[in-house]
Amino acid sequence: MNVHNMMEDLVTAEVNALYDQVKQANSPWLTCDCKNCRLDTISYVLNRIPPKYVVSGRGVTHSNEIFADHQLIADISAVAMDGIRIISSTKRPFHTLPREDCEVHKEENPHYNFPTFAGTILDGSTFEPISGARILLKLDGKPVDMVDMTWANPTQTFLSTKGAFTFWAKSIPAEKTGESRKFEFEIEVDVEGYEKTYNYFELPIISDPTVKTELNTACSVKIRDIVLFKREIFDEDKKEEKSEK
Ligand SMILES: [Zn+2]
Repeated sequence: MNVHNMMEDLVTAEVNALYDQVKQANSPWLTCDCKNCRLDTISYVLNRIPPKYVVSGRGVTHSNEIFADHQLIADISAVAMDGIRIISSTKRPFHTLPREDCEVHKEENPHYNFPTFAGTILDGSTFEPISGARILLKLDGKPVDMVDMTWANPTQTFLSTKGAFTFWAKSIPAEKTGESRKFEFEIEVDVEGYEKTYNYFELPIISDPTVKTELNTACSVKIRDIVLFKREIFDEDKKEEKSEK
C-alpha cells in the first residue's frame, strides 16, 4: 500500500512561506535560508506533530480539509518559527555539505543506539492532552543530548500535537558490540499551573557495531502517559490525606 503523510505538504508549504516572509522582512537573526536549512526546519516540525496518513491518490479531498484548518496551521507556524530560529542560530558543521552528509554522523565503532521515546502529557482530572508543557529528558541527572539539532531537549507540547512529544537520544559509545547496559532515564515535566512531575523509566540496551543513523519507526518506545494535576487539586488532596490521619 502506498501511503503518504499529508502533513509533509502542509509543513513544507508553511515553512517555505515563513522563510520567505522572514527574509523579506530582513530579520537580522536569519543567517541563512538555503535548501539545507529549509529541509532541517521541515524535519524539525514533522518530528513534532502527529502524521496524518492517506492512501496516495486519495489525498486531494483530505488536503483541502487540513489546509483549511486554521488552528492546525497556527500551531504549525509556531513550531516552524521555533525551528527557523533554532536552525538559524546553530552553527552546523555539515551546513554546506551535500544533503546526504547532513544526517546523523556515522561512526564505525560500537555504540548503544536508542529508540525514539514517545509519550503524551495528560491532565489528571480530564485526561485531555496538555499543551505548553516543557519536557526535559535526563540520564544520570544530566540533560540528554539528542541525535541532531532538529530534536529538542527540553521539548514542548503544542495544541495540535495533542500533548504528544518525542525524543531521540544520541548514541553513547560502548566498549564492544553486544554489551548490555541498563539506562535509567528521568523525564521532568513543567507546565504553568500544574504540579511539577517526574517520571522514570529503565531501558536495557545491547550495543551495536556502529551508530545507527536511520530512524526506524518500528524502533520507537512508547513511554506510559504522564498525568499532571493542577496545583490546587494537589494541595487539596494533601490536606485530605493529613486530616484522615
Ligand atoms: Zn542554510
